[in-house]
Amino acid sequence: MDTLVATRPLDHVADFPAIPDGWSYLDTAATAQKPRPVIDAIARGYGETYATVHRGVYQRSSEMTLAFEAARKRVARFIGAPSADEVIFVRGATEGINLVAQSWGGASLKPGDRIMLSLLEHHSNIVPWQLIAERTGAAIDVAPLTADGRIDLDAMAAMLTPQHRIVALAHVSNVLGSVLDARRAAALAHGVGALLLLDGCQAVPRLPVDVAALDCDFYVFSGHKLYGPTGIGVLWGRGDLLAAMPPWQGGGAMIDRVSFEGTTYAPPPARFEAGTPHVVGVLGLEAAIDYVETIGLDAISAHEDALVRDAREALSQINSVRLFGPDDSAGIVSFAIEGVHPHDVGTILDESRVAIRAGHHCAQPLMRHLGVDATARASFGVYNGRRDIEALARGIERVTRIFG
Ligand code: PMP
Repeated sequence: MDTLVATRPLDHVADFPAIPDGWSYLDTAATAQKPRPVIDAIARGYGETYATVHRGVYQRSSEMTLAFEAARKRVARFIGAPSADEVIFVRGATEGINLVAQSWGGASLKPGDRIMLSLLEHHSNIVPWQLIAERTGAAIDVAPLTADGRIDLDAMAAMLTPQHRIVALAHVSNVLGSVLDARRAAALAHGVGALLLLDGCQAVPRLPVDVAALDCDFYVFSGHKLYGPTGIGVLWGRGDLLAAMPPWQGGGAMIDRVSFEGTTYAPPPARFEAGTPHVVGVLGLEAAIDYVETIGLDAISAHEDALVRDAREALSQINSVRLFGPDDSAGIVSFAIEGVHPHDVGTILDESRVAIRAGHHCAQPLMRHLGVDATARASFGVYNGRRDIEALARGIERVTRIFG
């Protein structure tokens, strides 16, 4: 572990005021720390320019509306969406998937229809589909994994039928870091007439994403994993699909005309944004996008690949460590130490000022498949460097000493 990370200049820890010296934050897959420009954008949003959007007749509100809608365009450009009207602001990926399941699924699914998921999905890409399957009589199938922890697209191809209406897969696994061949998944789904939804939570912070090039139909992600605020996320959907989808939540801002005889609805995106939106969250998300694009997603991706390589190499030298996932995982390394519960690993690492995640990572079916209750997980961001991998390796050596 002597070359790549040491020589790579990408190490932006100084931009992150909540990361003190000597603390290794290795839990970016759960949520990313916030760089100063995002914190400043939020402070400005509340402290200088604050007003509601879409309703006010006064200048401040008009200006905030312009800023809010400019941020929507910024998001569209960031993910290669053909139109900003296809960008729906939601609370996060969880809400985005629930929106698609309830609105599209509620209107489209019927008994006999099938939904294709995979064994490595986050609970938020499982449970919303279970809820709508129960309501509509649709059934769920689960694509298996390859031995190294990727979604097995050959096996999925053999399972897909014309009854499948939607395929919903993680673009990058939050446990294994494995990267989906999304274009092939799209071709397979479309080949049987199904739609493809990609859960991009772990992809958007670490890979360049272009929804048009990926040829998917829906894409969701959360702002807080992209160095932005919590409580804001994005659902992108193909314009023709969104236009045909019924509202999900009712309230202010999503209507055309309301009367007790009958209400008509606004076109997307407003149709799916009932209530006062997270105005300042959207500004924070825009600042986060500016931040990662200034560094460059290609550079971030290369940096995290190098960290993953170094981490896997360092950990594989410790006998009792079992590594999960493929060698070329994106920014995420899950592992177990023989005879030590992952929670103990996390607690002892915390004493060494290394913050990792230990648990089932909201992926209990995957845990069962791996034959464990939980894993320890180190995940990386733009603020990590070689010192963090060294601290992790030293900490794990200490764990193995303590547990004999
Ligand atoms: N999908 C994946 C792959 C995730 O990693 C997460 C967050 N751990 C989610 C969905 C849910 O995201 P949120 O809790 O921000 O809605």
